[in-house]
Amino acid sequence: MKIFKDKHLLQKELIGEKSLSFVPTMGGLHKGHISLIKKAKNYKGKILVSIFINPKQFNNKNDFKNYPRNLKTDLSILKKLNIDIVYIPNENDIFSFLPKKKVYIDKFSSKLCGKFRKGHFKGVLNVINRFLEIIKPKRLLLGLKDFQQLILIKKHTKKRRIKVDIISCKTIREKNGIACSSRNQKLDKKKIKIASKVHLFLNKKKRIIKKDLLNFSSYYLKKELMKLKVSKVDYVELYNLNTLKKPMSKKENFNLFVAYFLGNIRLIDNF
Ligand code: AMP
Repeated sequence: MKIFKDKHLLQKELIGEKSLSFVPTMGGLHKGHISLIKKAKNYKGKILVSIFINPKQFNNKNDFKNYPRNLKTDLSILKKLNIDIVYIPNENDIFSFLPKKKVYIDKFSSKLCGKFRKGHFKGVLNVINRFLEIIKPKRLLLGLKDFQQLILIKKHTKKRRIKVDIISCKTIREKNGIACSSRNQKLDKKKIKIASKVHLFLNKKKRIIKKDLLNFSSYYLKKELMKLKVSKVDYVELYNLNTLKKPMSKKENFNLFVAYFLGNIRLIDNF
């Protein structure tokens, strides 16, 4: 496993690499990240995993400061998975050049998390745009847990004609139903229990809504989540996965999207 901290040295290593799979992460690796890596193994060519906690996508300084950092453990996980290349840039390596392509932010960025995390998606796209320019991968593997992020990256690469195949990967969950997330490391037992209850409750509701859309009420669901001792709910909303609009009929292909806080830890999910 080769580790690079400098983009120029990395680019030298990547010369002639025509089938590179790229898995960007912010570290704090878990089963979700590992599933993306395992999926990348289905393709020929090398796998590059990046670990970079992007300061520009945090709209809250404390959230950035408290984000899990376990580089040693992450590297040992990646070594066991036989990863070819790991890129661990510092901020200077990423931000010290002017990218050729301008970031394109689709209007879907104003929905869901975009309403509550000002500048978040701009920050995400800024950095992914830079990564794509440095690495020029054949394919990019992204998780559906961050559906809005995945869609906005797809829209950006399409609009800016960046040649990369985007591979969507299903959400991996813990046994209690909670979506794996680096932030889960910060949850104590009590909060894990609440998160599990939230998942069970919303999953049940989703099945009911699938049968009768009129059963959906964002207001009611928020109130029920508060009863489960959630600290705050940013949103509980339905979105059609293809049209990116609110569904009008139960036959549409929609998911229930949620963002909520347990203490100061913000969790998102969709199913
Ligand atoms: P992060 O380190 O949180 O920025 O995530 C890096 C990548 O892993 C993103 O493409 C995420 O969507 C994906 N990811 C995070 N959690 C999960 C999960 N539970 N299942 C599948 N993919 C995930």
